[in-house]
Amino acid sequence: MTDQTTARRNRPSADTIAAHAGGIDAATAGVVPPITLATTYARGEDYAPLVPGAIYGRDDNPIFQRFESVMASLEGAAATLSFASGMAGVAAIFRGLLRPGDRLVVQRAIYWGAAAWIEEWCRTWGIERVEWDPETPIGSVLDRPTRLVWVETPSNPLWQVVDIAAVAVAAHAVGARLAVDGTTTTPILTRALEYGADLVFHSATKAIAGHSDVLLGVVATRVEDADWQAIRAERKQAGAIPGGFEVWLALRGLRTLPLRIRHTSATALALATWLAADPRVERVLYPGLTSHPGHAIAASQMQGGYGAMLSILTRGDALAVASRCRLFVRATSLGGPESLIEHRYTVEGVHTRSPASLLRLSIGLEAVEDLIADLDQALA
Ligand SMILES: *Cc1c(COP(=O)(O)O)cnc(C)c1O
Repeated sequence: MTDQTTARRNRPSADTIAAHAGGIDAATAGVVPPITLATTYARGEDYAPLVPGAIYGRDDNPIFQRFESVMASLEGAAATLSFASGMAGVAAIFRGLLRPGDRLVVQRAIYWGAAAWIEEWCRTWGIERVEWDPETPIGSVLDRPTRLVWVETPSNPLWQVVDIAAVAVAAHAVGARLAVDGTTTTPILTRALEYGADLVFHSATKAIAGHSDVLLGVVATRVEDADWQAIRAERKQAGAIPGGFEVWLALRGLRTLPLRIRHTSATALALATWLAADPRVERVLYPGLTSHPGHAIAASQMQGGYGAMLSILTRGDALAVASRCRLFVRATSLGGPESLIEHRYTVEGVHTRSPASLLRLSIGLEAVEDLIADLDQALA
């Protein structure tokens, strides 16, 4: 399906799509799909593939197709592709679209791993990389021909909110494609393509797979154009495909995704509200708080919650607060059932832009009162 408006009109609710993710296995009537592990596929006597398109395991896999079609329905996308990790998906977009001499606009203070890779890759390949501070008008950097704009909303670890529709208009005016890292929202909270994005990226390692046991990336496209074919070729030819079991686990995760997103968003809002009233905390960064500078855009662009991610700036020693946590697990990543606390300043090293007082919280599925009790004793 290449017409996103048709996809949108005909779409049942995300809860229903997700609950049936993967569908029934036609061969066995099993209510969950099988994993195909074969790396190669047989040909007939005439040497034609016995199943059209089934040739080799690096090209595709039936379990990928099941996962990707559910993701396409949830996103309102023409197509999606799964990748070996989030970063494999990021790399496929950049390698597929950008050539030496091209201009890239990338939002400042985004997911550190992507920012570091993008910077290094652009330097190596002669891409003109321009940073955009989301507190300044996008027009100030989109004033000349540009190939790609990369934004993340809400962005790691400050949870700044980007007005996707406004950036899309500015990007398209200078001939750029807009790619949105929607890892924090998942399509349950924001379907970025409907706001004008051309590509949406998710680290499915996070909330989409949702159980801290899978590394996976997903890229979704508004149209199946030449850019999309280039990204698809990157996956196949450079071998950035995931394993069948990982995709199967992510498909299982999708079945409960809307439920988990709503629950963790509600808990995060309750926790953020509690923290904002605590004098031991200097500032709470969460788009769901009316005091957040991006709240109005978040309220119109995020449906059903503000996500599971927030950060706090502590008045005292942030690392000591993290050390005292008993329930929050001290670990990187996000989107799992267990709440995580992370001191980005320590993790990112000397080039970090994270304040030393910042603690990033990924809210899981625990009872909110237990999470509050843990932070209450840790802040002491
Ligand atoms: C984790 C993450 C990535 C990278 O994904 P991996 O699955 O770890 O490769 C990219 N963007 C955001 C916002 C992330 O949280």
